[in-house]
Amino acid sequence: MKTFEELESTVRSYSRGWPTVFEKAKGYKIWDTDGNEYIDFFAGAGALNYGHNDDTMQEKMIDYIQNNGILHSLDMGTTSRKMFLERFKEVILEPRDLDYKVMFPGPTGTNSVESALKIARKVTGRDTVISFTNAFHGMTIGSLSVTANSFKRHGAGVPLHHSVSMPFDDYVEGQNTLAYLERFLEDRGSGVALPAAIILETVQGEGGINAASMEWLKKVADLCKRWDILLIVDDVQAGCGRTGTFFSFEPAGIDPDIVCLSKSIGGAGLPMALTLIKPEYDQWGPGEHNGTFRGNNLAFIGAAEALSYWENDDFSKSIQEKGVVLREGIEALVTKYPEFDAHHRGRGLMQGIATAKPELTDAICSEAFQRGLIVETSGPEDEVVKFLPPLIIDKEGINEGLAILDESIKTVLE
Ligand code: PMP
Repeated sequence: MKTFEELESTVRSYSRGWPTVFEKAKGYKIWDTDGNEYIDFFAGAGALNYGHNDDTMQEKMIDYIQNNGILHSLDMGTTSRKMFLERFKEVILEPRDLDYKVMFPGPTGTNSVESALKIARKVTGRDTVISFTNAFHGMTIGSLSVTANSFKRHGAGVPLHHSVSMPFDDYVEGQNTLAYLERFLEDRGSGVALPAAIILETVQGEGGINAASMEWLKKVADLCKRWDILLIVDDVQAGCGRTGTFFSFEPAGIDPDIVCLSKSIGGAGLPMALTLIKPEYDQWGPGEHNGTFRGNNLAFIGAAEALSYWENDDFSKSIQEKGVVLREGIEALVTKYPEFDAHHRGRGLMQGIATAKPELTDAICSEAFQRGLIVETSGPEDEVVKFLPPLIIDKEGINEGLAILDESIKTVLE
C-alpha cells in the first residue's frame, strides 16, 4: 500500500487521499493495481449514479467513436446533442409536466450554478442572492459567494459580496427561520436588498446530508412567488435520482424557476451540466454566456442512454426501497454503538451517519478503506460519514457495505 505522500503529484488543495492507485471499476465495485476490491459508496461524489461502466452506455459510446461520431463541435447542432435533448424532453420533462429551456452552461456543476446566478441577476436587475447555512454550490467566485462555508470562502482571500446566508430548514431548532427572512425582506432599512434569487439544495451534500422537509421547501417556493424572487434549485448532487425521484424537489410539488444539474446527468461519468430555465427567463443574447466545452457529444451519448432508466417508475421505486435498507442499517448502527453518539440523516440513497464525535470519522473511513469500502466524510466538522452508493447497487451490496462500516466503527471505538 502506498502512502498518500508518495502518490501526491497534485496541488495541496486536492484533499482526497485514499492511499492506493485505482485501476478498474464496474457497477458499484472498484479495484486497485494490487488487485484489492472495494465497494464504492462514494460514486464520484454523486457523479456515478448509474455505476461504473454500465454495459449499454459503454457499448453506445464505443460505437459512436468507432463510427467517427463528432467529439468536439462547440455549440454546433449535432445528432448526439439532438438525441439527448429529445430524450430529455420526452422522458424527463414532459411526464413531469415541466416546461424548461435547456442550457449547456459548461462541463461542471459550478458552471451551471454560475449561469443560474447570472440569469437571475440579469432578468431581475438585482444582485443579491440568498443561500443557506452549510450550502455548497461551487468554488469559483460567483458560486463560492453563495457557498456558506467559511473555510472554503477563505480560499478567496477577501470577503465575497452579494450573498446572504440564512438558516437552512430547522437548523435553528424551534425557530421559524423563514418568518425571520421575511421580516428582513419587509424591512428595506435592514440593509438587505431585495434579492434576485434564493438558491438551495434540497439535501445538502457537502454540508452534511441535511435534508430539507417538503413543507419547508413549499414555504420557500411560496415566499419566492410572493416576493417575485427567483428560486434556483441546485440539484447537482441531489438530482438524477439520488434522493429517489429524478429531481429531488418532485415530492415537494414545487416548480423552481431555474434548476442546476451536473454530476450524474452525463450517465457514464463524463463531464456534463445543464441549466434548466423557465422559458420567460431565456433572455440572453447570442454570445452572452459562451464556453468552448459546452455540451460534450460523447457525454450526450451516455447521457441519452442513462435516461432509459427513467422510462417507467421501476428505477425510482427501487431507489426508494434500497434507501429504506440503507436507512434501517444506519439506524441499527446508531443503536448498536451508543458511545458513537450518532444519528441518521438523509433520504433516498443520499444518507449519512452524523456523530457528536467528529474526531472519529476520519479513522472510521480509513478503517473502512482497509476493509474494502470507499466512503467519505462531509459536514462543516467532517462529522458525517456520507453514503452515496451507485443507484444500481443491490440490497446485498448495501448490506455488505454496512457490515464493513459496522466492523470499522467497532474497531475505532475499541
Ligand atoms: N453544487 C452542488 C450541490 C455540489 O454538490 C457540487 C459539487 N460537489 C457543485 C455544485 C459543484 O459541482 P462541480 O464540482 O462539478 O463544479
